[in-house]
Amino acid sequence: MRRFYLGLNAGGPKVFRCLFGHGNKDDVRELSEILAQKYHGKPILMKNGRSALALALKSYFDYGDKIIVNGFTCHAVVEAITEAGMTPVFADITKENLNFDVNTISKVMGSKVKGIIVQNSLGNPVDIEKIEQFAAEKNLLIVEDLAHSAGVKYPDGRLVGTVGVATALSFGKDKAINAISGGAVILRFSAKHQIEAPFKTPRLSDVLRARFYPFFCALSRGLNHIHLGGILMKALIKIHWVERSADNRLSLIRRMPKYQARLATEQIKNWRHRGQAKLREFYLVEKRPEVLEKLKKAGYYFDAFWYEKPVSPERYYKQVFFPENKCPVAMEVTSKIINFPNYYTREELKKAYEIIQPYLVEDKK
Ligand SMILES: *Cc1c(COP(=O)(O)O)cnc(C)c1O
Repeated sequence: MRRFYLGLNAGGPKVFRCLFGHGNKDDVRELSEILAQKYHGKPILMKNGRSALALALKSYFDYGDKIIVNGFTCHAVVEAITEAGMTPVFADITKENLNFDVNTISKVMGSKVKGIIVQNSLGNPVDIEKIEQFAAEKNLLIVEDLAHSAGVKYPDGRLVGTVGVATALSFGKDKAINAISGGAVILRFSAKHQIEAPFKTPRLSDVLRARFYPFFCALSRGLNHIHLGGILMKALIKIHWVERSADNRLSLIRRMPKYQARLATEQIKNWRHRGQAKLREFYLVEKRPEVLEKLKKAGYYFDAFWYEKPVSPERYYKQVFFPENKCPVAMEVTSKIINFPNYYTREELKKAYEIIQPYLVEDKK
């Protein structure tokens, strides 16, 4: 069984391409053209996904507006909203697809709510037609966050990212398009506020960290059989040579490195082989610690856990003031969820399912 650290499934080629790969203006132009064609708007390449989301919010909303977000999300989303001077309003999710629906959105509506961020959790699309209709009735603008779902289609056949006023993509580790870091925003309608696109070159320390990341992952995997992989990774995080995804800083002025544009382009071009691939396969179980123990014994590795809190990672959770009593389903889900990144093979997932099956929550068996 393969094991991975920080979720990167990187073989030798990726290690070399990240370390030594280079990109130029043509790569940036090619990625921009592909995104423009797919999402019907002008793309702006950003340092990461949260910066892309913050730029989208600043472009269409006003300081002080409230924005509805999924009650099961990444801290990066909250960071983007806060950076834009707005307030997140969390809507509870359903167990079926881990997304809010019109019912839970309408419960948190208020006069200052001006927008909805659609997330399509772990690659499971929302019922977009109903949400679009609700948004139109209440005069809300939809922003689509494709960190989990780039390439996926909505139930009505439309590609995710082609519905809202703006589309934000993340090219970070573990995301639907993984170029270690980076992001893009497509403003599909004329913006209310003109925000300047990033103009500063990337910081050298950020570039080096991203370039060496797959190498360190491979090294740590190599050391794993003598149980030193985890220790190495922890040490590298401590001295800031490796950055955990959640700690990547938001910046509206730093550009995305050009070689990352090339990596992202390659992955988007391969989409037609992807089908409806989910970002992560999820299960809800009783007695989770026991199940995790069994899975670990069988060689499945859990590090980047999605999500142990309704806004993850846990170390940022307290500052969010999540309304736990208003999101009971999200609370239940975060105590029962187990999920696997999509680099596990069908065979591996089948074996995992055999371990999980006896523990599945009643209505999911
Ligand atoms: C990871 C993530 C982002 C943005 O990620 P970056 O690390 O800033 O690229 C946005 N939304 C969701 C739901 C995410 O999980």
